[in-house]
Amino acid sequence: MRFFFMKNQLPEIVFATNNLHKLEEARALAEGRVSILSLSDINCHDDIPETADTLEGNALIKARWVKEKYGYDCFADDTGLMVDALDGAPGVYSARFAGPQCDAKDNMALLLEKLNGVADRKARFVTVIALSKDGEEHLFTGKVEGTIATEPHGTAGFGYDPIFIADESGLAFAEMSSDDKNAISHRGRAMRQLIGFLK
Ligand code: IMP
Repeated sequence: MRFFFMKNQLPEIVFATNNLHKLEEARALAEGRVSILSLSDINCHDDIPETADTLEGNALIKARWVKEKYGYDCFADDTGLMVDALDGAPGVYSARFAGPQCDAKDNMALLLEKLNGVADRKARFVTVIALSKDGEEHLFTGKVEGTIATEPHGTAGFGYDPIFIADESGLAFAEMSSDDKNAISHRGRAMRQLIGFLK
């Protein structure tokens, strides 16, 4: 008697990113029910433009780009840090707040400078995920409320993590384990909605 072992064919979907941290997070949430490919997995090395002035717009540009040029179902994310006292800035421009060549340290320094002496330090991270699948488009939004610290705390994470104190933990994201952060974070929340939809 011969046994044939069929390769388990999972449905494939592209996450329009090469950020390993984001890919790991998405793959862990997908729990092996969806196979999540990165841009390099499909040989996409394009510099996809992020020219919209909203998170939704940028996420849709990226998801559509992959669907239209590479034929894969795709989802893409865009995140912004909205600070009340700055009328929602840096918002959609969070990655380039201190200028196109600047890094996370420069962005944090500029934000702390702009909030110097400001009492209202309320802020929120917002992630929008756009999904282009089977000819339809869907949006998923995750938010986390917090305040901007007066100086950096902790060493974990990335971006603005050392100066964002989440209301739900009372800690800076950079002081939390990645599991604890993912449980309450903007991206974790948006991602869980997406994965629930895909499953
Ligand atoms: P992106 O859309 O994920 O590229 O995020 C835009 C910018 O927001 C990044 O350059 C980061 O500086 C910041 N950012 C996004 N997610 C996080 C986070 O979880 N913690 C801290 N900063 C973040």
